[in-house]
Amino acid sequence: MPNTQDPTPMKPFIAGNWKMHKTAGEAVAFAQALAGELNAAQDRDIVIAPPFTALHAVSRSLAGSGIKVAAQNLHWEREGAYTGEISAAMAVEAGCSYAIIGHSERRKLFGEKDEEINRKLKSVLASGLGPIFCIGENLEDRDAGRTLAVLGSQLRKGLDSLTRRDIMETVIAYEPVWAIGTGRAATPGQAQEAHAFIRQTLGKMFDAPPAGIPVIYGGSVSPGNIRSLMEQPDINGVLVGGASLYVDSFVRIVNFDK
Ligand code: PEP
Repeated sequence: MPNTQDPTPMKPFIAGNWKMHKTAGEAVAFAQALAGELNAAQDRDIVIAPPFTALHAVSRSLAGSGIKVAAQNLHWEREGAYTGEISAAMAVEAGCSYAIIGHSERRKLFGEKDEEINRKLKSVLASGLGPIFCIGENLEDRDAGRTLAVLGSQLRKGLDSLTRRDIMETVIAYEPVWAIGTGRAATPGQAQEAHAFIRQTLGKMFDAPPAGIPVIYGGSVSPGNIRSLMEQPDINGVLVGGASLYVDSFVRIVNFDK
């Protein structure tokens, strides 16, 4: 189903998730090279998510470039006895504008549940950061025909009791787990079906079509497949893992239509 609810063209939202890659020194060198290549591009939202140790230095080095910085995860409390965690307030102070919440690696490797993700989303929103909220089915769910049911459940639980204003600050990332880091991206048709469903579900949950909410795709995005994904009416951008670790491939992804 095409996105007939939002006639306003949205800026492409392109985010790179570096996961546990790059020291602070490497991250700053990369950020400076990226800023030089992208030269304050105004016609798209560009975000990079370095590891925690590089957030502050990367944010400083990107000042004035228009490229924004995201944390890859946060705890929902502001402070406290949570060894190994950082809070949204700390990420704000480090210069972040966004936080990735509910990435499938957090769900699978660190046991994050929808309820915790919901608390994290609320804390991120209360701090003034924009959440990049990840959802996606695993291969077993897809093969069993449960994809849309899984996405619906993750949306309802993750976004429980958020307000319409909250959702307008949120980026939704559809990331099928079987496509992450595998080199096997969803086909444009598979991604479009999921994105249309997500948009329709958000419309029902928030009582009106929430125009202007970016719904982005993640899972083996590359310079070779970005264009066909971005041609889909309900795909507003991408979340990129592996291909965001190299200046050349990330710049080609950002400039997919140039
Ligand atoms: C990700 O981890 O969010 C991701 C999409 O990774 P990749 O692009 O490497 O599949």
